[in-house]
This record gives sequence, structure tokens and C-alpha cells, in this order.
Amino acid sequence: MIKENITAIHGELPPGVKLVAVSKFHPVEAIREAYDAGQRAFGENRPQEFCRKVAEVAAWLRGRDSDTRAIPLEGVQGVTVHEVPRNEVEWHFLGHLQTNKLKLVLPHAALVESVDSQHLLDAIQDWGKANGKVIRVLLELHIGAEQTKQGFHEEEILDILFRAEKYTHVRFCGLMGMATHTDCEDDIRADFARIADFRAYLQDLFPELQDFTELSIGMSSDWRIALDYGATIVRIGTAIFGERQY
Ligand SMILES: *Cc1c(COP(=O)(O)O)cnc(C)c1O
Repeated sequence: MIKENITAIHGELPPGVKLVAVSKFHPVEAIREAYDAGQRAFGENRPQEFCRKVAEVAAWLRGRDSDTRAIPLEGVQGVTVHEVPRNEVEWHFLGHLQTNKLKLVLPHAALVESVDSQHLLDAIQDWGKANGKVIRVLLELHIGAEQTKQGFHEEEILDILFRAEKYTHVRFCGLMGMATHTDCEDDIRADFARIADFRAYLQDLFPELQDFTELSIGMSSDWRIALDYGATIVRIGTAIFGERQY
């Protein structure tokens, strides 16, 4: 089923939209199956699990093929054959990140999608500086109605981006958000419209931030709606791997 699910989603995504397969709580076997279906970007939300899976998948790939030729990725639009070597997996971190766990995540993350506090951002800057690495991040905007959902308010993000120069070891790549968990499509659309408008506003205001292009919105239940609002990344777990066993 994983293969069919991935192929179906890739077939529906417009060019330039990246699918992140959210494999949290699922075993590495599920990631392998997704990989064999052509999936290359994976998302995890807990530092230990993230780190363990990065290592296990890397070991699997090393053991499996010394063959690193590029392969065609059927149905993966916007990716040309030669851009993705056979063994290249891209890991996204998308959960709450405590600053004492940075070393588990930052060496391996292609993108930290869930930067949700000034404190975390400062710690990422310090870690990047100390380790000679520039960390690609999305700022998480609080858009859902839930009180519990993490994320910045608009004015906090503005405040950060006015000081963007200070973050020499952080690359601001865009916004991430989670819509209200509801069956009411109008509410979901309102949440997505808000984050899409805000990204456009920020791009106008800060043209010097050339990498500020990503809009990571859309999960299993609402990713098709997210496409209407210019999602560049969709993060899909359940609709690929099935229900999670917590
Ligand atoms: C778990 C998770 C997802 C995927 O959720 P599904 O509803 O299973 O698709 C997407 N984004 C974040 C931030 C998550 O934590």
C-alpha cells in the first residue's frame, strides 16, 4: 500500500511541490518501502527517533547498493533524473525541538521546518556558528485555532526578519503552518490563506531574503486544499503509512 499511496500522491502534485513523507512512529521498513517507490524526503518529529532513523536508513543504503548512479524517479515531477543520486535521502525535522537536542538533529536535517521560538532560533544560530554550518529553517506560523499548537505570531516573525542579518548561520527558507484540525473546509481555507498572504507580504518586504520561498502547508487531510494556496511542501504521514500506533 505504501508504494501505491506514494505513487498516487506524486501523480497529483504539481511540478515544484515537494512531498515530505512523515514517517514518525513507523518502522524503518516502512521508510524502505517508500524509498523503493521513489520517495526521497522524509519527516520526523522526535529528535531521538529522527537520529536513529537517519543512521539506520544510511546503513541500509550503504549495505544495499554501492551503486550510486542516478535513477529515474517515476512520477516525481520537477526532479530530473540526474539530480537525485540513488542513495540520497533528505531528512526534514518537523517537531518541537528542545535546545539540548540540537546535536541529534542539526547535523542531519536538510530543513528544520518547526522553528517556533526566539530561544530555539538563537540556539540554532549558536550551534551553526560553533559547527561551521548554515542551518536551513522554516519559521512556524501559528495559524490553527488550537491553543496548543506551537508557532510564532506574525509580529514575532517580522521582528526576527528585520534582524535577519544577525543570523549568519541560519538560512530563512520560508514558513510552515498547520491548519485548524476540523472538517470545516472554510476554516482550513482561511488558515491557509492567512499564511500564504503573509509569506507573500514578507517576500515583498524582504526581497534580500532570496531563499525565503517555501510554504510548507498541507497534511493527510488537507494537502489538496493547501495546493490551492501555493504550498511548495506538503507533509503527509497517515495517507502514506496508515494510522500511527502511539
Ligand atoms: C505528524 C505531522 C504531519 C503528518 O500528519 P498526517 O496527518 O499523518 O499526514 C505533518 N506535519 C507535522 C508538523 C506533523 O507533526
